[in-house]
Amino acid sequence: MAANSEWYEKDYYKVLGVDKTATEKEIQKSYRKLAKEYHPDANPGSEEKFKEISVAYEVLGDATKRAEYDQIRSQVPFMGRGGQGPFSQGNPNFKVDDLGDLLGGIFNRRRPGTNNVATKGPDVEVTLTISFKESIDGVTTAVNVPIESRCRVCSGTGAAPGSKPVTCARCNGTGSVNESQGFFSFSQPCPACGGQGVRLDLPCGNCHGTGKTLINRKINVKIPAGVEDGQKIRLKGRGSLGANGGAAGDVYIKIKVDRDPSFGRKGLDILTVARVSFPEATLGSEIVIPTLNSSIKLRVPPGTKSGQILRAKGYGVTGKRGEVGDLLVTIEIVIPKDLTPEQKKAVEDLAKILSKQQ
Ligand SMILES: [Zn+2]
Ligand SMILES: [Zn+2]
Repeated sequence: MAANSEWYEKDYYKVLGVDKTATEKEIQKSYRKLAKEYHPDANPGSEEKFKEISVAYEVLGDATKRAEYDQIRSQVPFMGRGGQGPFSQGNPNFKVDDLGDLLGGIFNRRRPGTNNVATKGPDVEVTLTISFKESIDGVTTAVNVPIESRCRVCSGTGAAPGSKPVTCARCNGTGSVNESQGFFSFSQPCPACGGQGVRLDLPCGNCHGTGKTLINRKINVKIPAGVEDGQKIRLKGRGSLGANGGAAGDVYIKIKVDRDPSFGRKGLDILTVARVSFPEATLGSEIVIPTLNSSIKLRVPPGTKSGQILRAKGYGVTGKRGEVGDLLVTIEIVIPKDLTPEQKKAVEDLAKILSKQQ
């Protein structure tokens, strides 16, 4: 919007000597008459008045600008002549904050002090790959985390050793300056120091005046037992430096669990496959199943089918509340190939007997 604070102060209708309801033609007519009258060529010394008339017509002679002007004037109906605004008149219902909001919207100004507010440092996320066994048992390991840290050379001041940050003369260290626009005064970040309140005459060479450097922080993390792929572990306050005294950010360790050739996982249950022979499955047997840390004996009941799942209770993952999952063993019956003549004979005999039974 082309609005400026002069719109609050000046009654352009008055300047052009027309009524607020004047038509475009009436405004134009009045302007031409006044412009002729006050033209500096014809009337030396009337430059100011001529300028005032021109500015007024620039707004009222343009339908769009006139509409904006009318709107702004209607929003601040109490605005009168310059210098006698709402503050001196003491409108009891009008607070300075309201005015700030109102003008902030119209002039799209930044609110003061936005540059030196304490801000939490950014969070950092790193991925940690662990083995399947580590995910089940838990592990303590060192992780390198790239974070922004306080510069060691200048201790975070940003000034080269031997020099000091100088209080900004423009804003007296406040970080904001007041800019007057007609009747109004706006607070905005100081352009000389970027809102920091201090200036660096000699920036630190290590951090280039930022006061921060990127370092690899080695952090020891304890990965709890039973952690799952994709889970994130939050290390509060171990991340990058905050600004203006704000808290440091957090570090998130994202867990990636390597695939294991023998074991899988579903919730708290661990999955594995056991291969048994046809007689073992048929007659029943006791087989040895490797677990993550040792091995267990598992009873295969007679008549076990291929694909059947046997459950070894309590050999799964321990959950957060101490609950324990099971080891689920999928039975796979191995069909032998390349039989010896003796084996072949035995299978053929079995086939004969089975066919007689039917
Ligand atoms: Zn530095
Ligand atoms: Zn400044």
